[in-house]
Formats: sequence, structure tokens, C-alpha cells
Amino acid sequence: MVIKGIAKILGGSNERVVKRLSPMAEAVNDLEAETAALDDASLRARTDEFRSRLDRGETPDDLLPEAFAVVREAARRAIGLRHFDVQIVGGVVLHQGKIAEMKTGEGKTLVATLAAYLNALEDGGVHVVTVNDYLARRDAAWMGAVYHLLGMTTTALQNQGALAYRPDREHDNGAAPAEVMTPCSRQEAYRADITYGTNAEFGFDYLRDNMVAELDKRVQRPLSYAIVDEVDNILIDEARTPLIISGPAQDSPSDYQKFSRLVPQLSAETDFTVDEKHRAVSLSAEGIDRMERLLRIKDLYGEDNLRTVAFVENALKARVLFERDRDYVVKDGEVVIVDEFTGRLMPGRRYSEGLHQALEAKEGLRVQRESITYATITLQNYFRLYGKLSGMTGTAATEAEEFWKIYKLDVVVIPSNRVNARTDAGDLIYSTEQGKWRAVADEIEDRHTAGQPVLVGTVDIAKSEHLSEMLKRRRVRHEVLNAKHHEREAQIVAEAGRPGAVTVATNMAGRGTDIILGGSPDSRSESEWRRDHDRVVDAGGLHVIGTERHEARRIDNQLRGRSARQGDPGSTRFYVSLEDDLMRRFAGDRIKSIMTWTGIDEDTPLENKMITKTIENAQVKVEAHHFDTRKHLVDYDDVVNTHREVIYEERDKVLRGADIRANILQMVETEIGQIVGSHVGGLSPQEWDPEPMIKEIAAIFPLEPREADADGLYRASAEEIERRFVDIAGRTYERREAELTPELMRIIERHVMLRVIDMNWVQHLTSIEHLRQGIGLYAYGQRDPLVMYKKEARDQFDDLLAKIRHDVVHAIYHMAPVPAGPAGRSGATNGAQAAPARLKAARAARESKSVMAGVVGDHGRGARGSGGGKVGRNQRCPCGSGKKYKRCHGA
Ligand code: ADP
Repeated sequence: MVIKGIAKILGGSNERVVKRLSPMAEAVNDLEAETAALDDASLRARTDEFRSRLDRGETPDDLLPEAFAVVREAARRAIGLRHFDVQIVGGVVLHQGKIAEMKTGEGKTLVATLAAYLNALEDGGVHVVTVNDYLARRDAAWMGAVYHLLGMTTTALQNQGALAYRPDREHDNGAAPAEVMTPCSRQEAYRADITYGTNAEFGFDYLRDNMVAELDKRVQRPLSYAIVDEVDNILIDEARTPLIISGPAQDSPSDYQKFSRLVPQLSAETDFTVDEKHRAVSLSAEGIDRMERLLRIKDLYGEDNLRTVAFVENALKARVLFERDRDYVVKDGEVVIVDEFTGRLMPGRRYSEGLHQALEAKEGLRVQRESITYATITLQNYFRLYGKLSGMTGTAATEAEEFWKIYKLDVVVIPSNRVNARTDAGDLIYSTEQGKWRAVADEIEDRHTAGQPVLVGTVDIAKSEHLSEMLKRRRVRHEVLNAKHHEREAQIVAEAGRPGAVTVATNMAGRGTDIILGGSPDSRSESEWRRDHDRVVDAGGLHVIGTERHEARRIDNQLRGRSARQGDPGSTRFYVSLEDDLMRRFAGDRIKSIMTWTGIDEDTPLENKMITKTIENAQVKVEAHHFDTRKHLVDYDDVVNTHREVIYEERDKVLRGADIRANILQMVETEIGQIVGSHVGGLSPQEWDPEPMIKEIAAIFPLEPREADADGLYRASAEEIERRFVDIAGRTYERREAELTPELMRIIERHVMLRVIDMNWVQHLTSIEHLRQGIGLYAYGQRDPLVMYKKEARDQFDDLLAKIRHDVVHAIYHMAPVPAGPAGRSGATNGAQAAPARLKAARAARESKSVMAGVVGDHGRGARGSGGGKVGRNQRCPCGSGKKYKRCHGA
């Protein structure tokens, strides 16, 4: 296996890497005494000193030992935590732009301060990416004290707005950490030295910043350095759903409802086949016949019915492949996607290509209109925009190959601070799910009675609830966490280490919060806590039960990792049944035959090294499959990504006030060249008729009768004709500029460019998306779909650029101060003309905006769900104009 091979190589070199870094930790240790001798003011003054040394040419690498020693000292003073040596090593790895794998409880939050501080010295701003808003707030408030002592500012992005760490505000009676965070603007949040926030907040801000009409409406600075916490979750699990800003389209909800009613009439036996592995359905010949009869159409796969096919397939998929409470939940009248890997809800995200609507129809919910994409980016490509990227997590090594191939990120496994004392028992395998759940409940009850805390991981919400029911019947007190309420769940998890506590949780629930044996020390007196702590240690520490092997080993390791932090005792065990998804799909037959052969009953488990190995092999296979899927997504997205880079850069130039006059005149020249070429090209003077050509050119700018005279053209060569019209174009442009004033002309140029780019870009995104969906068909022709896609996409991009040129050229001359037609009713002063010109231009602006309204619809700054979504009519327009949405793009 490739993956295993690489893991091995990494395993070997990892020790060397860590060894090489140890002298760094020693260098930091050597500076400890002298740093500790500084008073607060002198400690803070070192920040300015470092900055001026950077100005004088030293590099962050030169400063590393001193800077780290300063941060360590500041953390000791501000929050009473002194970085362990292994944490210093972790900080070096982050600074080097790599992934530090550090086990749960090793204190990654504190590790980040080292690299964040060092890199924030360079003034670019450092982003620390957290898995949810609650953690962004918590970590900024907690670590903010450290940065503050060193004279650096800290902020946290939130779903609505942002918060700044401001301890100088008076807080009486010992303020809790959260209270040092006070509201600030989004722009201020990004001007801070260190900004905490979720990937969605950072990513959507990036997209929105590329939709603004004025530079000063942007909130982000150029992306310089990011530290991604729980990096595997963000770059691997979440990376499969791109960030999308979208709005409604013309699709009728009733179509979805109609097809949702029709597909139940198809028979699972004869009419379609289901491919669970690839999540695909296809109609059989009988199915096609039946559908055609139901719809009263002749040919389902005919030209006219392409959309019908998509409706049928989505309705069918929604019915047979997507299960409520496993793949999605229904919440407040909406279909909310459940992340297959983590069990986390992903509000605001929508399945694309009409599937989401099909699910809404299936559930009898209001079908939301199909959406148009205004801006989109995958997380992969968003994070590649940073000058430097690094990450931390408890579990990265199994995915090291992917981190390297996609992000060029190395994984370095940092040894733990204390020796790990966890015991991982072998899997127990049951023939049926029922038998398995009974055994799980028995085990929980026993440990609970003995006063040992138990954390039970389930793969989805439905299973958590199933187990919860069983425990209720047995009167075992327990908590259930579904990653729905981050803050409250964090508090529950903090107490999951109390004697006899039972906590049932899906994968992501409570992640990021430490489970301390005996419970949180903050919640009661030291002696009470000590007593509980000792009791739990005596009982064996936290016991973790996995109720199903996940498709990825990484997710299993995360669950195990919650036990035995910082040298604590602890144990784990997974319970598996032959009816589990993974077993049915990938490992079942082999194991089943062994179990039948041994002839055991439902309640007797099998514990066998070979079987555990077989399960792990199955996981490796599935991991590879998912990696391919994500790689695929990246390969496809890379194509649009290059387009996005070009378009965003052009847009940027316009916003930055680059001289687009020359650019536009160049476009005019190219356009004229094309028109002339298409009419004259290769024809002799007798053969061609200048009239249509003149008409086309006159559609760009008004021609005076003399200029529009065809007679003079017959004998001229194509080059001569072209030059002639290009001259006229230039003169006309100059005349208009003189009439309008250059300032007004610049405004018009910017305006036209931005609108035209935006409108066409949105259409391009939609058509590229259709292309991506349709291209699958080429695979049948034995052509590589990706190659075909790249070629087609290239053509479409050329078309896009041509269309932008065409639209700009045809709009730029038409913002006229006087009615179009023979120009030159001059004589009035510039001042007198400026006023009406402004009026006309303003009206033209509104017109082109109303064209945009159809396209720009509903993208949103109010759309703070992780998915874009909707902006209210009375909210500020997301384009940054400062006007209400209904008066701007929503008009
Ligand atoms: P992780 O994210 O790696 O699981 P956290 O950042 O949540 O870990 O920290 C886990 C716990 O370890 C916290 O309670 C924190 O206070 C504690 N901790 C971290 N670093 C240190 C340190 N250097 N000394 C003492 N305690 C520490």
C-alpha cells in the first residue's frame, strides 16, 4: 500500500526531524533566565526591538529563539502556563510552515502563540483558524492576554460581527475571560496582529472582498500566514464542500415536487440500480420506459429533456440514497447536511446540482429556489492563497500523503510531554448490531457503577439517540452531544471526566475542549476536585468506547485520543458488528465466513488480531478512495482557480485605480480588428459590402456621415480600414473625455469594467459548473474526462474574455452627456456639461445595476451561515456600497 509505505518513511525520518529541532528548544531554554529578569515594560519593549531588527534585515528565523523565549515568559506571567519543551518544538514546526501532530491535551492552543507572535512581527497579520466560533472566541480571549502583554492586538471573527481583546476596559469583580472581548468592526478584526476565526469566516470574507465596488470596503489584508487548528478536520473533512456565495435562480419548486411524487412509482427491482459506493443511481431500460409513460414524453434522453433527466435522478437519489438523520437532518423546516465523517451539522451548506431541492421536496419542505453561484472557492484553494500555511492536530500522520500532495505540507509528529499511558484494547466483533449495542450498554453500565467516566463515540446523531434510549431504560444518567451547541457542549465535555460520568457524542462534539480527570477544576473547591480526580485515577481514568469503526482511521484515532491526556491513565475499545456500514461494504464476507465457521451467537464477541487487521486494511482502502475523490475535486477546481486568479487580478487593478483607459482603448482596437477581419478577410474589393461592417462599428461609437461613408473603403486594405476606424475611435474617445472631464471618464471606465467583469464572471461560473457535471459523459468515449474538461474550460474562458471585451467596448461610448448621434454639439463649457453627464452616467449605472440585480441577487454579508445564503432586504448590501440591499443590488 502506498499510504502505508509513506507513513513508514515518515516514521523513520520523523525522529530525525524532531531531534534536529531539539537544539532550538535548548536555545530557548538558555534564554529563559535573562528573559525572566525583565520587568513587564522591558518584556513588551522587545517586540519593538524585534520589529526594528527585522527592518534592518534580520529574518524571523534569526529572531526565533529570543522571540519564543519572550512568548514563553509572557504566557507564564499572563496566564500562568509555561510552554513545555515539546511545545517549543511544536512552535518551530508551525513557524516552518508544517503540520505539527500533537496529541489531544498537549496544549496546541498555547503552542500556536509562539509562531503567531513571531510571524505577526512582520506586520502582515496572522490568522489562527479554529473549528467553530466558540473556540475562536475562547482562544482569542485566553491567548489574547499573552499577546497583549507583548503589545500585540488580538481579535476573533464571529458569525455575526467580530470581537476584539480589550482588557483595558474596566472590569470590576474579576471579569471572566469572555468579557474582555468587545465588539469591533470586521475591518478592525483584520487589522489586528492576530485574528482568530473559522475557515468559513475567513473564506467568505475573501470571496466578498472580491465582489466589492470600492477598495475601502474590503476587510482583509493580503493573506500572509495562517495556523490552522484541527487542520485535518478543516483541510480534509470540510474540504469536500466548497464555499459558495449564491442566490436564487428561475427553477420552479413545483418541478421538484412533481418528480418527488413520481419516483416512488418506480420499482426498485426492475427500474433502477443503485451504486452505494459511488452514490449514484441509474435508470434501467424498463425504468426509462416507465418514466416516459408517466411524463408522457417520447424520449427521456432527447435534446429537450436534459433537465428532466436531472430532475428524475435527483428525486431518485433523494429517495433511495439519502437517509434522514444519517446524511441530513430536518431542522426548522430546512434540510441540513450532516458531515459524513464527523457527524457535524453544516448549516447553510447545500448539496449542489438540485439534489438539495430534491431532498426538500422529499421531506415535504418548502423547496428553495435553485441557486446561482456568484463566487465560490474550495478550502484547498483558499488556504493556498496564504504566503505561508501551517497546522496542528492530534491526527495527521495517516493523511500525510494528502497533506503533502495537495498542500505541500509536511507532517511532523511531536512527542508527547509525558509518556502516554493509554491502553487500546482489540476490537470486539459481534455478528449483529443488536448484540453489539447490548454489549456496549452493558459495558457502560458496569464502568458507570464502578465510578469510572466513559466517553462513547457514535458515527451519527441517530445512533447517539438510539444508545441514549437504551441507557434511559437502564436508568444510567448520561449526556448526549451532537455538535449543535458548541458552547454548552464544551461545558458538558469539560465535566465528562467526573466520577461515573457518561457522555455520548458524535465525532466533532465538544472537540477542542480538554477532558480533565475529575472534571473541570474551575467548577468547585480544590479539595473536592482533588478527591474526584483521585477517585477517577483509581478507577482507571477515562474509558473511551467506539461503537463503530469509521471509514478513516484518523477519526477513530481522534476518539481514542481523548483519553489519557498528559500522562493520565486511560483505556479505549471499539465495538464492531458485521452489520456496520464499513463491514458490509468492505470487509464483511471474509469475516462473516470466519464467524459462521466458528458458529457463535449474537451476544458472543470475537476478538481477534487478524480481524482487527482486516478492518484496518478496509479503512486504508476507503481512505484511498476518499483521497481520490478529494484529489479529483482539486484537479477540477484548479481549472476554475486559474480563471479566478486572472479575473480577480483584473478586478483588483480596476479597484486600485490602475490606468484602465489604455486597457480599454486596446480592447476597442482588438474589437475593431475582429470586426474588420471578419468582413474583409481574404475578399477582393469587388466581393464585399462595407455596409454591414460600418453598422457594426457604429454600434460601438457614433460615426459622422463622412466617417460612415462606404465609398472610400472599397479600395482600402483590411489594415488601412482598421487603422482608419481605430483612429476615429481614439479621437472620439478623446473628444468625449474632454467633454465629460477626465475625472468623470475615469469613473465611467471603472464602473463599466467592474460591472461587465462581475456579470460575465457569474455566468462563467454557472456554465463551468454545468460543464463539470456534463463532462462525466465523455468517459464513455474512452477519453479522459479531466483532459476534456480542461480543454472545454479553456475555450469557455477564452469566450469569457472575448465577451468581457465585447461588452466593455459596446458600453463605454454610450454613457453620453448628449443624445447619441453625430457628436460634437460642443461649445458649452466643461463645467456646464459635467452636471448632466453625471446624471446620465448615474442613470446608466442604475440600469446596469438592474441587469446585475438578476445576477447578483442574493449574496450576502448577512449570509453568515457557513454557506452564503440570504441577505435581508433591509440589511446592508453585501457589495459594500453602504446602502440597504433593497436599494442597491436587491433593487
Ligand atoms: P489540545 O488542543 O492540544 O487538545 P488544549 O490547548 O486544549 O489542548 O490544552 C489542554 C490543556 O492543557 C489545557 O487545560 C491547558 O491549560 C493545558 N496546558 C497546555 N499547555 C500547558 C503548559 N505548558 N503547562 C500546563 N498546562 C498546559
